[in-house]
Amino acid sequence: MRFDIMTLFPEMVSGVLGESIIGRAQAAGHISVNAYNIRDYSEDKHRRVDDTPYGGGKGMLMAAPPIYNCYTAVKSKIEADEGLEFKTKVIYMSPKGKVLTQDHAKELLEYDGLIILCGHYEGIDQRIIDEIVDEELSIGDYVLTGGELPACILVDCVSRLLDGVLAAPECYEEESISSGMLEYPQYTRPYEFHGKKVPDVLLSGHHANIDKWRYETALEATRRQRPDLLEEK
Ligand code: SAH
Repeated sequence: MRFDIMTLFPEMVSGVLGESIIGRAQAAGHISVNAYNIRDYSEDKHRRVDDTPYGGGKGMLMAAPPIYNCYTAVKSKIEADEGLEFKTKVIYMSPKGKVLTQDHAKELLEYDGLIILCGHYEGIDQRIIDEIVDEELSIGDYVLTGGELPACILVDCVSRLLDGVLAAPECYEEESISSGMLEYPQYTRPYEFHGKKVPDVLLSGHHANIDKWRYETALEATRRQRPDLLEEK
């Protein structure tokens, strides 16, 4: 899967996504990530990308023309690299969007590529959202200074569902949220830590009992921390 990210701070996304599992997924060719600096597409001689909002109010708004220029360049590049059949969706990371869920991340796998727009400052001119954006996505009900971290979260969350990125599908099928519950508690060596021992059942080698214990502790954790997950199902 291919991710093309339009931002004023490309190093923020390439830095984060170049590390660890997602960095290795790029190196192995499971995903590709391209970050574009919207400022490079400003026609202003001072390379300005923002302006004060009409109607007044605090802060600066990202203007439509540089974003539009960047978008058309990205579209042409994707078309040149991948051909006309390549299916993309344009997503604007925004606190006004629908909140990203694991189910939605799965739905996004039907696309060959995501073009992700990151806002900054007070946000962006509505006309560019109306013209180029297919979907607005939020990462939660709180407000951040920019869309770069949300974009990284989206790329991370979708990428780990792709074949080859994690060791095995069970890695994401059996974990919190995907399974409809929170995950059971996990333990590794040492057997005893600060006087606390690993639950006996996990050392018993009895798989049916282990499964039962995991189910029960998962249910208990979900009831305690996220009862809403049980109500939905
Ligand atoms: N004034 C805007 C908030 C702007 S925050 C409003 O009230 O709606 C600046 C940028 O950060 C946004 O353009 C968006 O790209 C990003 N952002 C902030 N919070 C976010 C969230 N919860 N999810 C996704 N993107 C977010």
